[in-house]
Amino acid sequence: MKIFAVGRNYVEHIQELDNERPDEPVIFSKPETALVKKNNPFFYPDFSQDIHFEGEIVLKVCKNGKNILEKFAHKYYDEIAFGVDFTARDLQSKLKSKGLPWEIAKGFDMSAPISAFYPKDHFGNLFNLPFSLKQNGETRQQGNTGLMLFNFDHIISYISKFFTLKQGDLIFTGTPKGVGPVKIGDTLEGFINEQKVLKVEIK
Ligand code: MG
Repeated sequence: MKIFAVGRNYVEHIQELDNERPDEPVIFSKPETALVKKNNPFFYPDFSQDIHFEGEIVLKVCKNGKNILEKFAHKYYDEIAFGVDFTARDLQSKLKSKGLPWEIAKGFDMSAPISAFYPKDHFGNLFNLPFSLKQNGETRQQGNTGLMLFNFDHIISYISKFFTLKQGDLIFTGTPKGVGPVKIGDTLEGFINEQKVLKVEIK
């Protein structure tokens, strides 16, 4: 099973990190060992002093495919979840400044907590879907899939040019603005269209 993620997919988040707006989706991947399921806690790793949350909508691929045309892409994912793309921002910044790959800053163990999966139409219009993240009960991120630079179908089509998508693969589709650091003792909660679907305690 593969886990892909899209970087820089919401304009206001690109601005808050002072990044350039991409012409094509920015794709990276996380290994399967990054997943945390069933609201299990996240243990703060000792190699970073600046772990950030990034709340995102996650797609689950339901059918194998390669070179998928955008107009058929909707047939290749049938479920969504809320996920946190934990990022060791200090490591990432150092690597980015040297032009080196981000892998260790994004793919470390437990860097990808995800909620249960729901049918993609469960919460309403998939292409205009509000989602949010709370930290210790306070809303930090409020996104809407309608604000993505590259929508779900474009992302599926684009990734499948390079990687054969297989049933069960996951795709983190990018974070809206409001990312920030976590500390031990924090609780994060993820919501899709007002419904709480994920809880992550930082230990
Ligand atoms: Mg992200």
